[in-house]
Amino acid sequence: MRKYITLVLLLNIALLSAAWISASAPLTEGTRGAPGVGDPYFPELGNGGYDAQHFRIGLTVDLNERHLAGTVTMQAIATQDLSQFNLDFLGFSIEQLTVNGVPATYSRAGREFIITPAVLLAKDSPFEVLVRYQGTPGQYDGLSSQPFSGGWQHYPGGVYVASQPDGASLWYPTNDHPQDKATYSFAISVDAPYIVATNGQLQRVEDDGAGRRTFYWETRDPTASYLVTVNIAQFSRQEQEGEVVLIRNYFPADKQAQAEAVFAETDAMLGFFTGIFGDYPFEVYGAVVADKSLPFALETQTLSLFGTNVLNDSLQAQIVIAHELAHQWFGNSVSVHTWRDIWLNEGFATYASALWVEHRYGRARFMTLMQDWYRLISNPAFILTAPPAGDPSAARMFHPVVYYRGAWTLHALRQKVGDETFFNILKIYYQRYQYGNAQIADFVTVAEAVSGQSLQDFFTGWLYQQALPEP
Ligand SMILES: [Zn+2]
Repeated sequence: MRKYITLVLLLNIALLSAAWISASAPLTEGTRGAPGVGDPYFPELGNGGYDAQHFRIGLTVDLNERHLAGTVTMQAIATQDLSQFNLDFLGFSIEQLTVNGVPATYSRAGREFIITPAVLLAKDSPFEVLVRYQGTPGQYDGLSSQPFSGGWQHYPGGVYVASQPDGASLWYPTNDHPQDKATYSFAISVDAPYIVATNGQLQRVEDDGAGRRTFYWETRDPTASYLVTVNIAQFSRQEQEGEVVLIRNYFPADKQAQAEAVFAETDAMLGFFTGIFGDYPFEVYGAVVADKSLPFALETQTLSLFGTNVLNDSLQAQIVIAHELAHQWFGNSVSVHTWRDIWLNEGFATYASALWVEHRYGRARFMTLMQDWYRLISNPAFILTAPPAGDPSAARMFHPVVYYRGAWTLHALRQKVGDETFFNILKIYYQRYQYGNAQIADFVTVAEAVSGQSLQDFFTGWLYQQALPEP
């Protein structure tokens, strides 16, 4: 727990010094927005000085040429008098840049797109940045540390977008950190017969009569940049008025029957998780299956992304489907404060998938699954080489320890405090941090308050020490 106290102190010092600089600078000059939000794993992700509210993403996509022409506007509010601010954006050629309709100047340094508006942006005032750009995405794959962080990805017959944690800035200019969520509208133009599926709900499709169609989509709720997705392929759309929320799935047209069978329990899963966590946070849900085998699935907001390898009649497929759905609560609605808090995403979604197995297939299947995971995390070689689940480092933030020891941490908590208290902890934690951000210490605080127990040693043992505690 010590490291969090230190972090809080450092943040306070940083905030104090930022306030001092801002107060002492002449108002006519303003100050530069910080180039990052202070994430200990990814110091350059996100930016300071403004709060993004809404993005309009206009894209013209040429699938054959693998070319993108984009016009992206960000509506934001200045949180300080701003002389200069950054977006995160890498690659592409910039064709036009304006701030409040007035041409602005810029420079680029790696992912930092450094914008100098012609006129000072006053604290608390709204402003709008427009960036027109074009080029070929995917030129920077070397920067992606994960198969699901490459951003915009082409495959034969389509496109998917997966960006955790830092792939969003590889395809559109953004404030690339979950601390600054925003709503989105999309206008994405492709050749017929391709279909576009993104986050939120389809508003309308315009046909230009010459073989091109533009798909207009809109999200109701703020979305972290890494959870923004665009999928293009010859999909068939399947729609179901579910018990909890509208479900709309996008499946490869020639695999629709098989996919409908594999995803048939989505509505039941939504009902189960709503019962144990609290209301489903968004206006719609569904799955998109890219017509390609993928070594991952990703919980892109309101439209989880899967590869064709999920299309099989196995318990493992149902576990993955439940995992991505559970992330809509834990990860997407309650988002990490910094990427060091990744256990709050992966430990929770992993345990939630086991809870679905317990509910749907019974206690014996649940215990077998938990024991399988325990065998992995109790292996001496695993213990020796795994990082701590509560602070796994940027390079190993998706290490199995975060998922499986992370899930066991919650299972051990459940055994320690009992079912009723455990599920109250989950509900109250979700209620308190939904549509926001949380750190691991916030969950510990809720668990202690709800259980009335001191749990510092418990969480330190499970999340930060090497030796595996007795469950
Ligand atoms: Zn996950």
